Parts: sequence; structure tokens; C-alpha cells
Amino acid sequence: MGLITREELNRINRGFDIEEFGDNVSMVTRDNGDVGEEEYSDIDYSSGLEIIKSLKEDFNIIAKISTCDEWVFVNFKNTDNKRETEMLRLKAEVVKAQNNLDKMVDGVFNKIKNQKSLKKTCKNCESNISVSYLQNCNCPVCGIEMFSNTEQIKYHKLIVTLREKREKLNDFINDI
Ligand SMILES: [Zn+2]
Repeated sequence: MGLITREELNRINRGFDIEEFGDNVSMVTRDNGDVGEEEYSDIDYSSGLEIIKSLKEDFNIIAKISTCDEWVFVNFKNTDNKRETEMLRLKAEVVKAQNNLDKMVDGVFNKIKNQKSLKKTCKNCESNISVSYLQNCNCPVCGIEMFSNTEQIKYHKLIVTLREKREKLNDFINDI
């Protein structure tokens, strides 16, 4: 998917005036609005929603509909390949951060499973648990991960990284 062209926009347009066409696209109408009462029309608003729906079928865009007096506006950022590439890069970073976290937790679980002792004591609730009973790193009694201090620090760092990557992606997606 590349940029939306003016021809494509004209094809799905429903009587809106295209006021700005570039990185940002701005469209407006008051065709059915009440100019005297300064009230927008539900017809124009529905048309705006239909335009956005059509856009989203074919383009990777974030669009906004808004009103002011009798006017209905449709605004969106015309996405380009650069934006898509950046989006993919940010998504890949989230996946990588998630994998690092999963790998770390799996590693700790394997270590617990392969330890010599048949029991593992939870540092949090002090329950003495049969290793064979464990399904993951979490204590089956209190639910807290049974990590050593070093593992706890590493785990926390990985969680923070994952959260940051997710936030970056969300900020990028919500940016208009
Ligand atoms: Zn516990």
C-alpha cells in the first residue's frame, strides 16, 4: 500500500471539498448542514463516516471526523511506505522484546525442572513445592515468580523494555 492518490480519494468522496491534499488530507462539507442554526447534518456526518470506512478498507490510515457549527470535517494522515516500514520495525521490536522475555522465563523454568532437589521453596510465601508439580515459574500457592534476585532484576528489565517498545508502537499508531 502506498499513498492514496487524488483520483482514489475522488472515487470514494461523497461531496466533501478537499481542502488540503498532501501528507495530511483535510476534507470538509456543510452541504446538508443548517447554516442559519449553525448545526451540522447527520447526513454529512454519515457521509464522513462512510469515507473513513472506505479509506480503511484499502489504506493503512488513521482518520478523524469532527464537526464545527454546520461543518463536518474528515482529516487523515496520508500514509506512505516510509510510515509502513517504521510501523513494521516497531512491531518487530515488540516481538523481539516479548521473545527475550519468554526465553528468559523458559530458561528459569528449565533450570528449576532440571535441578537436583525435588522440592523448590517459594521465597515469597515459603511454600515447599514439588518440582514435578510446577507448570511454569510461578508459585502455585501465591502466584509469584520463583526467581532468584539476579533473575528478578533481569526479568524486571525485560518487562520494562517490552512496555517501552509497546508504548512506542502505540504512540506511533495513534499519532495523526
Ligand atoms: Zn509462593
